[in-house]
Amino acid sequence: MKIKEIEAKVPLYKHKKKGLPYDYDLNIYRGCSHGCVYCYGRKSHKYLDSDNFEGDIFVKINIAEKLDEYLTNNHLKNNIINLGGVCDSYQEIENKYRLMPEVLKVLIKHKQPTIITTKSAFIKKDLALIEELSNSAEYVNTALTITNVKKSVTNILEAGASLPEDRFEALKMLKGRSMYTALHFMPILPYFSDDEDSLETIVKWASEAEVDYMLSGMLYLTKNIKPRYYKFLSEYYPEYLDQYKKLYKNGGADKTYKSTIHKKLAELRKKYNVNNSYAKFLPNK
Ligand code: SF4
Repeated sequence: MKIKEIEAKVPLYKHKKKGLPYDYDLNIYRGCSHGCVYCYGRKSHKYLDSDNFEGDIFVKINIAEKLDEYLTNNHLKNNIINLGGVCDSYQEIENKYRLMPEVLKVLIKHKQPTIITTKSAFIKKDLALIEELSNSAEYVNTALTITNVKKSVTNILEAGASLPEDRFEALKMLKGRSMYTALHFMPILPYFSDDEDSLETIVKWASEAEVDYMLSGMLYLTKNIKPRYYKFLSEYYPEYLDQYKKLYKNGGADKTYKSTIHKKLAELRKKYNVNNSYAKFLPNK
């Protein structure tokens, strides 16, 4: 991995897209060593003169200071900041730099509504600070993303992220704390996480962790992502390649397939009493 320290000029990215539960993204790193094959964030790396999204990690060493300055001059208490977007704040390099505690202290100081989503059990180290933030800000939401329950798949498909069981353990540690919590089952991966056992395990995990809600969304293969994903299939799971080509005539999966999976998930959510809507938890603006 190559690490490059950089200075952030502007700490936040304001979304123009409507319909998101947050208004700003805060990426403390650029690039992400989790290396998820299906990652949509890869294209953001081209602005950094690198085509190695998981191997060239840019560290915004002044991010906490810049954020403090920005939140002092712009009151964003009615806005939600999403940590991540095109990186995971708890990727491997965070072990070395520990930018998150500094960023969390700034967010606490400004009572800033925040969403944190990760695929790393490393978040456990900062739970006390996240809880402190949730006691000061009107809204804090912490989510673990779990896309499948098979170690062998995770080890290749999300090679740098925590194993599914470890993410589940981290999710359980959020239970009973003052923040809202969620399991993101996104993306659902055809042939890797759509079998009965996997679907049931994930909904059961959401239930056991007593999350406020569980979100799910099917894998979408954009023009940029499809070649990389198909290369991964050819190398490791060639037996699924043809099935994928049939399922993904376009970017989205076949509609009948999608609705079958969503129907099964709805039944499981009912069985385990797991809510799938985040809207009711959002603060009124
Ligand atoms: S954790 Fe998110 S940002 Fe990082 S590689 Fe995976 S999908 Fe991309």
